[in-house]
Amino acid sequence: MALQTVNMKDMETKLEILNIIKEWDTIIIHRHERPDPDAIGSQCGLAELIKANFPEKSVFTAGSSTGNLSFLADMTPPDKEDYENALVIVTDTANVKRIDGKDYHLGKQWIKIDHHPLDDSYGEIEWVNTEASSCSEMIADLWITFPEELSMTTEAARLLYAGIVGDTNRFLYNGTSPYTMQITAELMKYSFSHTDLNNEMNVIKPPLAKLMGYVLDQFSVSEEGVGHIIIDQSTLKEMGIEDKDTNGVVSLPGSIEGVKTWGIFVQQTDGHYRCRLRSKGPVINQIAKEHDGGGHPLASGANAADKEEIEAILNKMKQAADSWESSK
Ligand code: AMP
Repeated sequence: MALQTVNMKDMETKLEILNIIKEWDTIIIHRHERPDPDAIGSQCGLAELIKANFPEKSVFTAGSSTGNLSFLADMTPPDKEDYENALVIVTDTANVKRIDGKDYHLGKQWIKIDHHPLDDSYGEIEWVNTEASSCSEMIADLWITFPEELSMTTEAARLLYAGIVGDTNRFLYNGTSPYTMQITAELMKYSFSHTDLNNEMNVIKPPLAKLMGYVLDQFSVSEEGVGHIIIDQSTLKEMGIEDKDTNGVVSLPGSIEGVKTWGIFVQQTDGHYRCRLRSKGPVINQIAKEHDGGGHPLASGANAADKEEIEAILNKMKQAADSWESSK
């Protein structure tokens, strides 16, 4: 298979990770809270790969239930005692605070596999590749790098494909590289139905459809090209929707003409706002970091105590949009 692999530094880390996986009889894989397809795809795709290639090992997937993504996978949660002699691998999670399943620290050895900027170092081994479109791409890359040691299964290919499609927004985002497409092509050779999977991933429940209409109707855009919408608890309740379901509206405003960067501010039950920041150019992750968050240069999350803090975030986004415009 004449596929490019990423780089020598990564080669060494990948080999180290493979060797450590071989050493442990019990492996527990975590991912971030409020999982998206990449979190589940990388976590459960890796679990499937390990189970298929090392059937004697006990492999668990930890974290809260996968909710409306349960068509991808369900968790196989460990008991507390399972950590006593276990390797813990955390996928797709930039910082310790966001790890779902709070017993991760009980494991005996700890590996981080992630594609977010390295803000919070954790684990004895960190494999961080910010050039990867998704963490699922990294897991597939691990397979591609060691085809003699790891054989792919249809189920693992389905999960990893879903993760890549999810995190690239169907190959639209700029993290999509020629390597992403090569890896995806390899995964598509397995006999899952990518059409069925894409259809499942595209299904919108009626309350979300309503919220989409609301977002497009109420969204406002400043003269600097900064768009925003605030969704209060009362609106969520009226539409019968929960915060975790708002994922489906986050990319919508990117198609509105003139929008360079945008924020979706969703009020939480305690009154504070979860801020989901996105951009088509202006870098916004530094702004997110200044407001109890972080993430990628063009896709970040933060928290705002109140509307005043939202205003402060929007002002910074306006400055970012102006500097981006003048740097072109
Ligand atoms: P979201 O808006 O939740 O889909 O998150 C977009 C990106 O920002 C993801 O890559 C997250 O890992 C990151 N992110 C979201 N919330 C936080 C947070 N509170 N702290 C650090 N990173 C975050």
